[in-house]
Amino acid sequence: MIRKTVSFTRHAANVFFHLLTRCNLRCRHCYINPDQHGTQTLDIDTINRWLKLFADRHPSSNLILLGGEPTLHPDLAQAVKSARRSGYASVTIDTNGYLFHNILERVTPDEVDFFSFSLDGPRPEINDPLRGSGSFDACTRGIAAAKQHRFAVSLIYTVSRANIDYLKEMPPLLDRLGVDRFFIQVIGVRGQWAEDAGKRETLAQVDRETWLAVVPQVAEEAAGRGIPTIFPKVFLDPGEPFECAGMVADNYFIFPNGRVYRCPLCEDYPLHGLEIRDDQLVETPRINETDLFPLTIPEGCVMNRIIQPRNLPADDGGAPPFKIACCMLKEEISPS
Ligand code: SF4
Ligand code: SF4
Repeated sequence: MIRKTVSFTRHAANVFFHLLTRCNLRCRHCYINPDQHGTQTLDIDTINRWLKLFADRHPSSNLILLGGEPTLHPDLAQAVKSARRSGYASVTIDTNGYLFHNILERVTPDEVDFFSFSLDGPRPEINDPLRGSGSFDACTRGIAAAKQHRFAVSLIYTVSRANIDYLKEMPPLLDRLGVDRFFIQVIGVRGQWAEDAGKRETLAQVDRETWLAVVPQVAEEAAGRGIPTIFPKVFLDPGEPFECAGMVADNYFIFPNGRVYRCPLCEDYPLHGLEIRDDQLVETPRINETDLFPLTIPEGCVMNRIIQPRNLPADDGGAPPFKIACCMLKEEISPS
């Protein structure tokens, strides 16, 4: 098995394009915040122009189409074809698995590199309380249908206190479903649920010891079954260098109201460094997220310190015993 840290790079831009914020599910930990991201569905002409805007700026970027639920968009297939014509190097569709508008019949595996499904438990009893009744069955059915249509499939499991105990049951399920790539994600304390103290408690991030005791082992087991597995670093080891992706990488998180963030942790606030106005990408007035990226603090990630300080214990002198990594720093374990 090969284990490596996946640093961010300037050589490959990643464009995360939320085509709409509407969704058929109401996941307890949904990160969409209509107050900040709007409620509109972009029309296909706007989508095409915005796709071209980023393709011209960064030829050969990786495109991730999301929502809300992107397959609710009636013109998703057209957006995919337009992205291919615009020269994106890869196209991924993130979905909750319901696959509306017959999307599997309207795009081909040459056009879509991955359908990426979200599932937060190995069984309905674990997944459905988090993502909604019937969502486990819908998602696994969606995966089977995508495989039948010969699409490559990845699966995202968002780890929180509510489901970490069941993560170890995932590798056999991934195997059975024929999943090609596994992403373990850490819950972000973002979205409207994060304002609810009770939910913050039950859904909060797991502590460092628990994360390190569970996540790398599960990743190894999945990789041992031939499934490359990617998970966020989250906690830096002592002495490991801290780097903010906002300073060194080209990631764009585009929302239908025209806001463009460079850092996903900023998405609950009007801190976006860029926005699309009249089909042009323009910088926003200061103060915005770009003012935060260069700040050097003992805790590592500045935005984490601001929005989720409770995942940082302090030693007797009040100093944090480790740094929180940039949320975009990943580790990957691949089959040898
Ligand atoms: S599927 Fe995604 S967009 Fe829809 S409710 Fe769940 S987290 Fe939110
Ligand atoms: S998560 Fe933290 S380190 Fe990463 S881009 Fe945002 S502010 Fe920078």
